[in-house]
Amino acid sequence: MAGSVIRRIVIVGGGSAGWMAAAALAAVVRRRVEEIVLVESSQIGTIGVGEATLPTLRAFNGSLGLDEIEFIRNTQATFKLGIEFVGWNPERAFFHGFSDFGPDLRGVSPHQAWLRMRAAGDDRSYCGYSISTLAAQLGRFAPPIPNRDSVLGSYSYAFQFDAASYAAYLRAFAEQRGVRRVEGRIVDVRLRAEDGFIESVVLEGGRSVSGDLFIDCSGFVGLLIERALQAGFEDWSKWLPCDRAFAVPCARTGEPTPFTRSTAHQAGWQWRIPLQHRTGNGYVFCSSYISEDEAAATLLANLDGAALGAPRLIKFTAGRRRECWKRNCVALGLASGFLEPLESTSIHLVESGIGRLIELFPDRGFEPKLAEEYNRLMARSYESIRDFIILHYWASGRDGELWRYYRNMPIPDGLRHQIELFKASGTVALYDSGAFAEPSWISIYFGLGIFPRRHDPMADVIDEAALRRELERRARIVTGAAQSLPTHRAFIDKYCRASG
Ligand SMILES: Cc1cc2nc3c(=O)[nH]c(=O)nc-3n(C[C@H](O)[C@H](O)[C@H](O)COP(=O)(O)OP(=O)(O)OC[C@H]3O[C@@H](n4cnc5c(N)ncnc54)[C@H](O)[C@@H]3O)c2cc1C
Repeated sequence: MAGSVIRRIVIVGGGSAGWMAAAALAAVVRRRVEEIVLVESSQIGTIGVGEATLPTLRAFNGSLGLDEIEFIRNTQATFKLGIEFVGWNPERAFFHGFSDFGPDLRGVSPHQAWLRMRAAGDDRSYCGYSISTLAAQLGRFAPPIPNRDSVLGSYSYAFQFDAASYAAYLRAFAEQRGVRRVEGRIVDVRLRAEDGFIESVVLEGGRSVSGDLFIDCSGFVGLLIERALQAGFEDWSKWLPCDRAFAVPCARTGEPTPFTRSTAHQAGWQWRIPLQHRTGNGYVFCSSYISEDEAAATLLANLDGAALGAPRLIKFTAGRRRECWKRNCVALGLASGFLEPLESTSIHLVESGIGRLIELFPDRGFEPKLAEEYNRLMARSYESIRDFIILHYWASGRDGELWRYYRNMPIPDGLRHQIELFKASGTVALYDSGAFAEPSWISIYFGLGIFPRRHDPMADVIDEAALRRELERRARIVTGAAQSLPTHRAFIDKYCRASG
């Protein structure tokens, strides 16, 4: 069958993952295939969370040709310059911003130059060199200017949006481009007798939908990839034991902050995601250390405004599907695995899964090497994010039973190497296919009070007085640039206020 093109793609599930896949495939491969069908059940519904994103979403939306202002208005979105972490370091809050700490100084990384001045007694915070951190703290936002040499062009941003509205917006986009939506509950998956490939899905009432390539976006259940194909699940709960979340929106009070907040609690952490019309909140917790009633009460006691409903419980297990692509089925979104939303990475993993599928797009021969490569890349992506999240817990100086567990647990070898290298030299060993670059890792290390034993000796070659002057100059420029931006609220009101 090699050489024969895919005729029909069947996407199972209409959450963010399903409609993102439908929109992207409609935009990129629609002309190459006869039909794209999406099957979803409004009876079952979607997970209904997933509101904070990474800057990569802009590239995804851009690849579809979406107009950013229209997207923001349609999804009640606000802008996100990073994440504020409260209570993770008991001594002070810290920020993971979407910018670096400035350009190298005579070949020396800015964090190494800062470490050298710190060793010389300079107590200026490294945050003073991060435009996204300062702008976020001042509640300011404007998109970067198209000049990477200017500090006003040196940062990135993401969005905080209403996940249901995003799926609806992409649905309209995909349907306009010929994607056919089928409403119905899938009750069976038929496999071909000769090779175990998926032949069709059977809906309640007996109707069936057949296809060549199936995309499983059915959520945690993994209807095709797990229930039908038994791809297997690699359980990571020994490293990430949080297994539940309560989610509840609340009325917005005050200005929407251009950042997400993560506040550590006794048995996990709480997210706060401001949108234009409300604030999303949730408590991610470990059920071995707190009862569900107590977790719900903690969440409700820590809202900015009145709760807009009762907290909704979501159960999960951290880990990933052993094979995200098996036979003629590719799993995306929650069907492919789950990592708690501490760094807002799930939608990013959907984007990268879709991008890789398009790059490695099969024909009906389903060359096994394509699946092998896809699975290798997705495994690397999942592992790099897993380790980044573990670092937050492992390095937190917080007290309490769960936090002591994290501090004392054996961590993955790759992360252990990363941490030891950083402690020894301030060097960040980046992961292959990792979502986070050096400044992100440094933000977490420094934010949690992990500093290397020595800085880069090349930093000592620079004259100390000249280095001090240069760092002072940079801090002045970054502060002035952050102060020159409009407030986040003013920017939204002027350019992209949602009508509803
Ligand atoms: C507590 C929590 C917080 C999160 N926060 C973030 C965040 O801040 N940022 C981020 O990037 N991600 C976050 N995520 C992840 C994010 O919500 C998901 O990655 C994203 O919404 C994609 O979900 P999905 O489409 O895979 O699944 P779902 O939304 O669950 O959709 C599954 C779809 O499959 C359909 N379906 C299932 N079974 C059947 C059947 N038998 N027949 C027909 N249809 C069926 C359903 O009807 C639905 O349409 C969070 C997740 C959780 C659990």
